[in-house]
Amino acid sequence: MTTTETRRRPNVVLINCDDLGYGDLGCYGSERNATPAIDRLAADGLRFDNFYMASPVCSPSRGAMLTGCYPPRIGFDSFDGLPVLFPGQGLGLPTSEVTIATLLRDAGYRTQMVGKWHCGDQRGFLPTDHGFDHWFGLPYSNDMGRQAHPTEGPLAPPPGTEPFFSNPLPLMLDDAVIEQQPDQAALTERYLTEAVRFLRDAGDDPFLLYFAHLYVHVPLYVQPRFAAGSDNGPYGAAVACIDWALDVLLHELESLGLADDTIVVFTSDNGSRGVDGGSNAPLRGAKTTTWEGGMRVPCIVRWPGTVAAGRTTAEVATSMDLYPTLAGLCGATIPDDRTIDGRDITALLTDDGATTPHEAFLYYWMDQLEAVRAGRWKVHYAKHGAERTELYDLDADPAETTDVAAEHPDVLADLAVHAEAARASLGDGLQARTGADVRPIGRISDPVPLTTYDPDHPYYLAEYDLTDRG
Ligand code: MG
Repeated sequence: MTTTETRRRPNVVLINCDDLGYGDLGCYGSERNATPAIDRLAADGLRFDNFYMASPVCSPSRGAMLTGCYPPRIGFDSFDGLPVLFPGQGLGLPTSEVTIATLLRDAGYRTQMVGKWHCGDQRGFLPTDHGFDHWFGLPYSNDMGRQAHPTEGPLAPPPGTEPFFSNPLPLMLDDAVIEQQPDQAALTERYLTEAVRFLRDAGDDPFLLYFAHLYVHVPLYVQPRFAAGSDNGPYGAAVACIDWALDVLLHELESLGLADDTIVVFTSDNGSRGVDGGSNAPLRGAKTTTWEGGMRVPCIVRWPGTVAAGRTTAEVATSMDLYPTLAGLCGATIPDDRTIDGRDITALLTDDGATTPHEAFLYYWMDQLEAVRAGRWKVHYAKHGAERTELYDLDADPAETTDVAAEHPDVLADLAVHAEAARASLGDGLQARTGADVRPIGRISDPVPLTTYDPDHPYYLAEYDLTDRG
């Protein structure tokens, strides 16, 4: 050994839950769900209390995290008028976009994804087209398969017509469908098997593992052992399964001697729906909304020896920041030929006195700029097309209960400057504005659904019996 020891480049384990709310974890105040492993992760690392995803729904949130850009920047503001990608759409993340996985792979990392993708299900848009050596998981949400349909409600098919999603749910290995209508209760365990194998095969090369849970997106199929221990129904059981999966991954890192060399990030793609046991408490709103509960999510970072244990920060950080931050920490270089919205937050990880690099955070619903936060202040301009002007002091009033717009015209004027800059750069459908610095979504003209219904096919399950969709 020399005295100038070169530290190994860190591994990255990025865990992204689906629709897990701000108030769903013990370390964020939940009294309904037991999350001992996640709580321990927070005790050993840094808990962000003002961490944002860039969208309150799946596809744009995930595209933004992987590219470090606001959804409208990469054409992920809407998907031919839909808020997320649907099965068989000819749209997705083009290979002209450089994901964090591509950056790390090109820097010599082994890369593996397990779980939900939802950035395009056609060739050219898949994880293996975006820097992942291998992928095992679902191409989109777990409610987009053959599933029993309620006879009433917005997703009920009109009498005599086919359900909206009538093709079997595909389970994929790399770019191939290997199973249809898999047993969803078994999927997390199967993802873990793949992930553990990947970790054990790590060898000397640094690695990126992106573990994208199917939980807690409905429908919630859970194993009996988690259901038996849940005080919060299937939702609590799904959270318990997420917690168990983390426990397994951390145990593996420990036994492989990799714990100190691995950055573990735990977060969620958007807020909870706020029903069926989910919680965004104490925040207002839920998934699909630009109230805090839709986009402020749990985020914990553990990196023993570098990120001090047991810290919390109230500084604003975003999923987009993971892109330049992880790239920098892993010795990769982000592209300099395009706008990247994420900021390097290494200082927030290591320095108690560091402050957010963000002057403002933008809340887009599809192509519409609905709200802007700067410092403690958040202005709302609209909700799903209905205009309003409301101002909240998030430090004093995180639940957004008391509109103080009338008392602070100066603050509104300051926030309007940020809003105008956003509209010029990213566009705003509310004002028929087109952004000057946006890139197109990937588009193919001849998309083919990954699966089609064949009544003679030996599906594991011919039809999921739960009716929930979310
Ligand atoms: Mg989601």
